[in-house]
Amino acid sequence: MLLATDLDGTFLGGDPAQKTALYQLINGHPSFHLAFVSGRGLASVLPLFEDPLMPRPHFIICDVGATIVHGHTLQPVEPIQSLIEEKWPGKEKVAALLSQVKGLAPQDVPQERRCSYFYHKQTDINTLKYRVEQLNCDLILSAGKFADILPKGVNKGFSLQLLVEQYGFDIENILVAGDTFNDLSLFETGYKAVVVGNAEPGLPEATYGLPAVYQAREEGAGGILEALRYFSFIRTAQS
Ligand SMILES: [Mg+2]
Repeated sequence: MLLATDLDGTFLGGDPAQKTALYQLINGHPSFHLAFVSGRGLASVLPLFEDPLMPRPHFIICDVGATIVHGHTLQPVEPIQSLIEEKWPGKEKVAALLSQVKGLAPQDVPQERRCSYFYHKQTDINTLKYRVEQLNCDLILSAGKFADILPKGVNKGFSLQLLVEQYGFDIENILVAGDTFNDLSLFETGYKAVVVGNAEPGLPEATYGLPAVYQAREEGAGGILEALRYFSFIRTAQS
């Protein structure tokens, strides 16, 4: 199977014992394919591997879908990466056009082919949306504070679907997992999916009624284990 999971609040979230159980399960089953699908930049993902228990994913999709690399070599997955690159106007152009938007502050994090900002209740969202349209880019608001500007049409679900097609993964044997609105595109793929228990307010409602989306009670990694059992990918947490 392929587990394509968000990191913060999802694969990295929840009870420590459940995290350990999930990571051991994956490490003990070489047939278990893993993809990280994160809003982090690649440079912020790599320190996770200092933890010897952290499973090494086959693929890392990061920058909210704008970067896609092989998990072991960290080389770009082509031609998908080049396709995304062609759609990106460049950070200088984005920064110049958004510098006048009130209440928008750049996030000082590693990022490629996307620009991430903080917003708040007083941010001029209408102007932000207008400017992002002028750039022919997409805007994703999540967690009540993150505003991600991405190449048009690029998001976590977009990049994952291209990956699934390219490598011929059986769509019946895919589970996606997430906890905030930047994961919504994952849930809209139609693959089996889990919204973990500590999800951003509104996300359970937004995904309610989507086919194959399971709403977990447990948080983070515990929610993933719960869904693996629910969809019969495993019989128990330890099997
Ligand atoms: Mg998350």
